Amino acid sequence: MPPLAERDVFAPAAPGTMLLGLIGSGIAGSRSPAMHVAEAAAQGFALEYRRIDLDVLGLGVEALPQLLDHAQAAGYRGLNITYPAKQAVIPLLDALSDEARALGAVNTVVFEAGRRMGHNTDASGFAAGFRLQLPGAAMGQVVQIGAGGAGAAVAHAVLSMGAAQLTIFDMDDTRAAGLAANLNAHFGPGRAVAGPALGPAIAAAHGLVHATPMGMAKHPGLPLPAALLRADLWVAEVVYVPIDTALLQAARAQGARVADGGGMAVYQAADAFRHFTGREPDAPRMRQGFLAAISHPGLT
Ligand code: NAD
Repeated sequence: MPPLAERDVFAPAAPGTMLLGLIGSGIAGSRSPAMHVAEAAAQGFALEYRRIDLDVLGLGVEALPQLLDHAQAAGYRGLNITYPAKQAVIPLLDALSDEARALGAVNTVVFEAGRRMGHNTDASGFAAGFRLQLPGAAMGQVVQIGAGGAGAAVAHAVLSMGAAQLTIFDMDDTRAAGLAANLNAHFGPGRAVAGPALGPAIAAAHGLVHATPMGMAKHPGLPLPAALLRADLWVAEVVYVPIDTALLQAARAQGARVADGGGMAVYQAADAFRHFTGREPDAPRMRQGFLAAISHPGLT
């Protein structure tokens, strides 16, 4: 096995080709490489996007310092960062955007004149997808199920978009309480609460955000009893494989307005593309390509 610096992922790119990568675990199915490459091609410049998969390399987060050093030395323009490295990368950076600092998580690193700048586009990506798919949605009382990595970003987005109060549920009560405490420290006391009872909270809510893995092939089913859904409760989903989850189907069957998880997936990439390239992405074009790719996964 060659030393880490000599692995294929750290080979120089062809001259004139912008080099990007994704560091994470279990990222073989990520749509980010295809989205960035297709958008660059549509804008007429060459971009290569590599998966730096911790599982494939047989490494853990303790290897992050070397991975960033080697990527920077190899001429990478930047990196997306995903599970399990979004927090661990922070001490390795020179500066953080306000949003990344507030979230305590980084999903985009840009190498600029020898410095490493950390951004977070998960919350802004969720917000952009939400506004597109649920324009004018009432933001008074919102319930969120799921307080993990994605949940922290979308909760931040929901309060930033003006929700008066967010009630958070998680099968792990301490996670819900911890996220509520972090949000209150940032947005002010009382803006977030860890919910004691789901039924009454949903009965009083304008909208529901779902941020657990329920609905994916490995976690089939609904994250709540279908009887709690109703026509005047909008539902925003983070799961995007499948794009039309059982929850979205059940909500639509009640006549509710819904937003799929593809919005966050596409707009976090579009916002990262802007940071990496300094160019304005055509986000609707990226969404079109994304939807085509996930409905025909074998073709890309
Ligand atoms: P995570 O493991 O960090 O968090 C999931 C949380 O859900 C955990 O706190 C867990 O206790 C809780 N949970 C699980 N099942 C539950 C249930 N039935 N009821 C209540 N709580 C439950 O995972 P994550 O990184 O936050 O990812 C969650 C989902 O979001 C995944 O399906 C992932 O694919 C999706 N995701 C989507 C995007 C996007 O761009 N759309 C981005 C990131 C993650």
